[in-house]
Amino acid sequence: MDPLKTIGTSRKDGISALQPPKSSVVDEVDRLLAGRTRDIRLNPELSSIFRLRSWPQTSKIIRAWMIWVVVLDVLTLAVNAILLPSEVVAAMLKPALILPPAALATAAVFLKPRTRWIEGTAIHLGVFLILLSVALVGVAAAGEYYERHLTIMLFVAASAIIVFPVPLEWTISIVLAAIGLFLVLQLQNPHVSQGSALAGTHFFASGVGATVVARRTANILSHKTFLLELRDRARLADLTDANGRLELLARTDALTGIANRRWMMEALHRVGINELEQAEAVAILMCDIDHFKQLNDSLGHAEGDRCLVKVAGIIQSSLRDERDQVARYGGEEFLVLLRGADEQEAAKIAEQIRSRVEAASLPNPRSSVAPYVTVSIGVSILEKGDNIVSSETLQQWADAALYEAKTSGRNRVVTYKP
Ligand code: GH3
Ligand code: MG
Ligand code: MG
Repeated sequence: MDPLKTIGTSRKDGISALQPPKSSVVDEVDRLLAGRTRDIRLNPELSSIFRLRSWPQTSKIIRAWMIWVVVLDVLTLAVNAILLPSEVVAAMLKPALILPPAALATAAVFLKPRTRWIEGTAIHLGVFLILLSVALVGVAAAGEYYERHLTIMLFVAASAIIVFPVPLEWTISIVLAAIGLFLVLQLQNPHVSQGSALAGTHFFASGVGATVVARRTANILSHKTFLLELRDRARLADLTDANGRLELLARTDALTGIANRRWMMEALHRVGINELEQAEAVAILMCDIDHFKQLNDSLGHAEGDRCLVKVAGIIQSSLRDERDQVARYGGEEFLVLLRGADEQEAAKIAEQIRSRVEAASLPNPRSSVAPYVTVSIGVSILEKGDNIVSSETLQQWADAALYEAKTSGRNRVVTYKP
């Protein structure tokens, strides 16, 4: 599995911006944060997220360290060339040349994210060759330079141990390489006895060991910071979700599931300030079920509710696309907002709603219009080029047209004419 996918979109440098973590990850994060800091151990999934998250920083540190080692190596050689006898400098030159390519190649590996295996191999090989180069410079120069360069080599190793934010196993490998090189080369140092070589190795190993403990603590603390950040993101995502659900509830009509009056008032307000000023055509349909009270009285309130749900569905299915919106405006009244609809189109949609409700033959036995459910619809339109009016005025016109539809016999569409 591609670990990038578990945490969301990848940027061009291959590192993900952290998105809300999955619930299994969140559970593990909570479990780890509930325990003691020193017991924090990331599982493989968290490790891979952490690795991606910390990669930019880790790679920058490793690259910077590699470049500086090269610069210092070259500088030291130059200073030596001035200060030391030429035969010593000549002896140092060959082993010193191992370092720059090894360091630069390792830096190049960390230019972009690679598999853990490649990065691990590069670090191990690169650091080993750098340490070997520093140590062999001393061996080649011999005499007083022998032990001095072995000590410098340990110093280089210690700096890598402290600054590389890499897994502890990698840190320990660097320690073992440095101590191993020191011991093997010191045992061959003609100026140092075997006992002294062992004692020296033990002394330096204790010092380097302390840096490993420091590295381990720093690793655990950065893991904890990472876990806290993951938890924050998860909580933020939960809150955003809950807010979204609340908002949806606040603008939905519980019975029919379509938008409610509150939402429509806001939509109309937006129309008021946007579309009307841009003089885009807007139409409002006021749809009212005829003799709905009779339906309730004859078939019961529950049947009335079912009728409302069906009529809401019919109106919704008669809309064109997301430009059109419907809301339950009152008890058995629905308001439809049509954007960009001229008189002909608005009248066509209204007629479609009316005829589809009629065709559905929902029973309303005591209606004076027909033994089934019918609707009356008042239409108002503001077309391009008309004098601009407020959305409240448009609504009043639709109401007036609806009143006209009711008084002239119901089950019809009437368009407002000023
Ligand atoms: P008209 O043709 O003139 O519109 O007559 P009408 O009976 O449809 O209108 P009226 O305003 O007299 O009655 C509306 C009825 O709608 C009264 C009310 O009890 C009923 N009503 C309002 N909300 C609901 C609801 O949520 N469910 C049910 N079942 N009935 C409702
Ligand atoms: Mg009615
Ligand atoms: Mg009514």
